[in-house]
This record gives sequence, structure tokens and C-alpha cells, in this order.
Amino acid sequence: MSEAIRDLDSRHVWHPFTQAATALPPPVAVSAFGATIVDAEGREYLDLVSSWWVNLHGHAHPAIAKAIAEQAGRLEQVIFAEFTHEPAARLAARICALLPGDLDRVFYSDDGSTAVEVGLKMAMQYWSNRGEERHRVIAFDGGYHGDTVGAMSAGASSGYFDAWKRLLFPVAVVPYPATWDGDEEVEAKEAAALDALERALETPTAGVIVEPLVQGAAGMRMCRPAFLRAVEARVRAAGSLLILDEVMTGFGRTGALFACLKAGIQPDLICLSKGLTGGFLPLSMTVAREGIFRAFLGEDLGSAFLHGHSYTANPLGCAAGLASLDLLEAPACSARIQAIEVLNRRRLDALSGHARVSRPRLCGTIAAFDVAGGGEGYGAAIGPVLKQALRQRGLLLRPLGNVLYLLPPYCVAESELDHAWDMIAEVLDRL
Ligand SMILES: *Cc1c(COP(=O)(O)O)cnc(C)c1O
Repeated sequence: MSEAIRDLDSRHVWHPFTQAATALPPPVAVSAFGATIVDAEGREYLDLVSSWWVNLHGHAHPAIAKAIAEQAGRLEQVIFAEFTHEPAARLAARICALLPGDLDRVFYSDDGSTAVEVGLKMAMQYWSNRGEERHRVIAFDGGYHGDTVGAMSAGASSGYFDAWKRLLFPVAVVPYPATWDGDEEVEAKEAAALDALERALETPTAGVIVEPLVQGAAGMRMCRPAFLRAVEARVRAAGSLLILDEVMTGFGRTGALFACLKAGIQPDLICLSKGLTGGFLPLSMTVAREGIFRAFLGEDLGSAFLHGHSYTANPLGCAAGLASLDLLEAPACSARIQAIEVLNRRRLDALSGHARVSRPRLCGTIAAFDVAGGGEGYGAAIGPVLKQALRQRGLLLRPLGNVLYLLPPYCVAESELDHAWDMIAEVLDRL
């Protein structure tokens, strides 16, 4: 059976972020439970990347599956420009209650990239609605914000988009003070980054976009909460808008429900997706402060935000989001998030003396380090070697170049996580 599927796949399917000429044929996933994915041969893979950072509570979680099934039998989809519905209204209200300050208006879209597009477009139109000319966007070096054209422009310095360089609009880039355990230069890096930001903000700026606490695709590059507070102060002083891309960091990954809560900052716009539905369905939201929403009110259509997607606020996704929030807000979940951090801290510290391990770093449930001597950047040759060796040991990991990281679903058992670290140490020993 799996050979037939793989054959159809190899002839008709185009996989994301994959060089089909050299990639190994992918396993055929047939089922999943907890942190485990099962393939057609019955092999099990421990999902330590939460299936591209989306899964929170485990695969095929019965509570979320049930919520989706019930919703699908009642109201599967409805045009959101003409109707509202209970799951969308309730989910919006619950998310707003969790976010700081007056982030009180939810605009729904489909994925992380569109949440960022919406944030950028809102920031731009906010200023033009107020009669001010501000279209400049500032981003941080290495930041990744998605694969659509606006998101690629904001994330051009990530280096993923060289094939489309000429398509992108200019975005000012300031340094990002990536740091790690025992980093002695962090203060100097932060000061330089803040200087550059201040200078960049001398030109009227529509908004400053940042992945708070952890730059994901750039290689799990972490910064300190105090740096983000200093960024917020500079953005406020310049009268610009702070746009947080919490597509990856949201929903508990950094140890707090949202990175902005952990950092103690209050953005003007925040982009959420990935974990929003617990990893079941594509859905995203851009949440705006009430004052931003008000700048779009007026007599004429031109001041409205004329943007929308066919599946905006899909009821199934919203129902999944509500069920996922129930699980996330249960005390047992924060206990598991803490337990992951404690275990990862212990194992990362133990491994940090390894000759192959450099720049160990941790933020909440995310642990990462660079594999020394393996080249640098997304194309580093060591990445596929590590991935394959770990795959043979039943672990789904996906190094970002020479950066090995763990970003597990919160349901992962401590014994599973411990075993994963044992296997990682073994693979590093054999390099
Ligand atoms: C994944 C990601 C995106 C893009 O989300 P998609 O759902 O893949 O479009 C945007 N920003 C960050 C920080 C991400 O990690």
C-alpha cells in the first residue's frame, strides 16, 4: 500500500521546502497519537518539531477532534463578510482577554503569512487613514515572517528568498542581538541594535516588526526580554507601531502564554497562527489595538480595511481553537510546559560541554544549540546528516542548517524527551 502511495506522490505531489531531486522518498504517515506519528510500515516517529511548530497538545487529540466533528455537522463555513458565528466571536473574545492591554480587535485569516500581510497592510493604511505618509517598515536581521510577498519583504534578511529579490519592497533592517548561555557580548550587541533602531526610526516609519524572544526559522535565535522592552520604548518615542509576529512563539512555546507577556511588552498589532487551532487546521488572526481599529471607521468605504480570504474565520478552525484553548488553560498544561523546560535545561546543560555543541540556548519549551564544525546557514551540509541519523532512531527533528532544536508538543512524556536527548548525544558522539 505505502509503495503505491509513494509512487503517486512522487509523480504528482510537489513538497514544500524540498529539493525533490535529492530528497529521500517521504514516509507515508497513516496515524498519530500524542507526540508520535506512525507510518504505513508501522514505524513510529517522535514528533519533536510539533509538525512544523503547530501541534500543542498531541496529534489527533480527542477533545479537538470532537469539537471539529460537531462543528462540521452544524455549520462548516459561511461568508464572514455577511455573517458572524459563535466560534469566531467566542474565540476572538477569549484571545483578546489573554492578550495585554487593549489588543481588542481580531481580524481572521488563514495562516501565519497572511496574518503578517494583514498586519503590514493595517499598519500602512492606519497612517494613510490618519493623513500621514508613512510606509517604511523596519525588521530585524534574520527575521522570518512567512512566504507571501509582503511577509517575504519583511523577512528578506532571513536569506530564504533570494530567488524573488526583485519582487520585494524595501524594508529597513536593523541588527538582532541573538544570544545564548554564557554570552559575554550580549550587552554590546543589544546597545548596537538599539542605536541602529533609533537611527532607522528617524525616518517616519509605519511599523517595526519583530519575532519576540525567539527568531524561529532563522535558527531559534533568542534575545532577552529587556531588549524587547527597550525596542518598545524606541518605537513609542518615534510614534511608530510595534508589530509582533508571534506565529511561532504564541500559545505557550516560550513558557508564557505569549512571548509579549513574558517580555512585558504591549504591541499595537500581533500576528497569531500555528498553535491557534492546536495544530489541527489552518487559521490565523491579526489582533489590533482598539485605537487602530477606530482609525478605519468612517463614512466612506475607502477608509475600511478592504481585505479578506474565502475561508476567513472558518468555523471548524475556530471550534478547534476554542477546544485547544480549553486544554491550554488547564493547570495541567502549564505544569507540563514547565516540566519540559526543566528537563531540557538539565539535558542542555549536561550536553553543553560536548565538543560539537556551541551556543546552547533555551526559552520555555524551545531548546537549541549550534553543531560546531558543521558549516553555517540553512544550507549547512551537517543538517541532512543529523536529520537522517536521528530519523533512523525514531526521532522527527529538522535541523535549521547546523542548528539542532527541540520544539515538542506539550504532551510529550518526560521519558520520551529524555530518550530523545540520549539519542542526540549518541549521534553527536558519532559525527
Ligand atoms: C511559520 C511562520 C510564519 C508563516 O506562517 P505560515 O503558516 O507558514 O504561513 C510567519 N512568522 C513566523 C514567525 C513563523 O514561524
